[in-house]
Amino acid sequence: MTAQQPARPEGITGLDASDLAAKITAKEVSAVEATQAHLDRIAEVDGDLGAFLHVGSEAALAAAADVDKAVAAGETLSPLAGVPIALKDVFTTTDAPTTCGSKILEGWMSPYDATLTGKLRGAGIPILGKTNMDEFAMGSSTENSAYQVTRNPWDTTKIPGGSGGGSAAALASYQAPLAIGTDTGGSIRQPAAVTATVGVKPTYGTVSRYGLVACASSLDQGGPCGRTVLDTALLHQVIAGHDPADSTSIDAAIPDIVAAAKTGAQQDLSGVKVGVVTELQGEGYQPGVLASFNAAVGQLKERGAEIVEVSCPHFTYALGAYYLILPSEVSSNLARFDAMRYGLRVSDDGEHSAEQVMAATRAAGFGPEVKRRIIIGTYALSAGYYDAYYGQALKVRTLIARDFAKAYESVDVLISPTTPTTAFTIGEKADDPLAMYLFDLCTLPVNLAGVCAMSVPSGTSADDGMPVGLQIMAPALADDRLYRVGAAYEAARGPIG
Ligand code: GLN
Repeated sequence: MTAQQPARPEGITGLDASDLAAKITAKEVSAVEATQAHLDRIAEVDGDLGAFLHVGSEAALAAAADVDKAVAAGETLSPLAGVPIALKDVFTTTDAPTTCGSKILEGWMSPYDATLTGKLRGAGIPILGKTNMDEFAMGSSTENSAYQVTRNPWDTTKIPGGSGGGSAAALASYQAPLAIGTDTGGSIRQPAAVTATVGVKPTYGTVSRYGLVACASSLDQGGPCGRTVLDTALLHQVIAGHDPADSTSIDAAIPDIVAAAKTGAQQDLSGVKVGVVTELQGEGYQPGVLASFNAAVGQLKERGAEIVEVSCPHFTYALGAYYLILPSEVSSNLARFDAMRYGLRVSDDGEHSAEQVMAATRAAGFGPEVKRRIIIGTYALSAGYYDAYYGQALKVRTLIARDFAKAYESVDVLISPTTPTTAFTIGEKADDPLAMYLFDLCTLPVNLAGVCAMSVPSGTSADDGMPVGLQIMAPALADDRLYRVGAAYEAARGPIG
């Protein structure tokens, strides 16, 4: 099969979020119509794509009906009221199961909503359903889901990225105009890049992790996904903000992201200094990806940006550090799935001890990649090896944060390709974890440093016609810069395909 841009449908589902919101406010389209149109679209196309694990038609329509009542009563609506969303199945919801793509949580119902879920509800954004993901967000292709494969709408033989492949595929195939992902090492940006959608990993601590089932707590960050930079900005503004229920939440003002996206769309980047990261290009990168990246650099320059090359020497070690820190945290976080408190319980027949039930449940409930990481993490944290592995990785983490800090002394944003190659074929790397990990090369430094980044589509690769993403990185709490530069680039680039 050759790559083909998914056709934009006629009617409601073909509208991007900001246009749909305007029509709802103008009473040209009701919120119920908007939600129903997307539910119909899911019924029509998701059988082939597998983006959703659960579709919550009733709850979504009820939320939409509430918005219509508010419209009829003349209430002031939040900017995205009535625009439905796809939610990664790692955020808890009281009205739908939360599985994290794992058998161990099959059918598990949370007793509470994540803070982010509550913010979506509060903004009148109907939740269409929960999207497929790599088990507990570990993976780069969504193939590690215990439930189903998700396919890339550009070419259904290819992966949609991971771990948030379901959210990205839902957006790219017009099943939802907005989506939520989480990014621990790239799981928002990388699926965005390979599906030609926009995804942002906000500054660590600016979007609440309360009710986001933990993978690696010091790296995990929920964030917004859309088909345009403006839509992503509107959603970002809804979900960001301090949360006392999350002890790592930052009590700092969130910059005006939507205003930044609107300024950016004017396409004037004079005075903006953009650094091209030396270490995130060259050998190992697909020629079509580099060509697309270089064209993007040219367009930023044409719009007035000053382009300089910046070296971040420790980025080379990000992969090694990440794949020690992440498994270490995973080995601790996933200890809570003990067969006693949540979900699956195996061998509970009165013949086995509690310990045996725990072991049998974890053996049956976790997939191979999750087990691999629990074992690596347990080893890296063990008494004799802690300093040599985990301790060293933390030092590298600090050096990467210093590389960023130094770079931002002379530039406003850094850029790179989001991924070294375009989407690969389903099954191609399934038995080769290291090859899979290499796909995250460009996105990992951002998580290790806690800063923010966006992936914005930069066209397609001449090699295979598949989408390529431009990664824009900015300092902590300067998320608005991503939107200014991202919107300017998006406008300069013009339509894809
Ligand atoms: N692919 C990376 C991993 O497997 C990133 C995952 C993520 O961001 N959740 O760890």
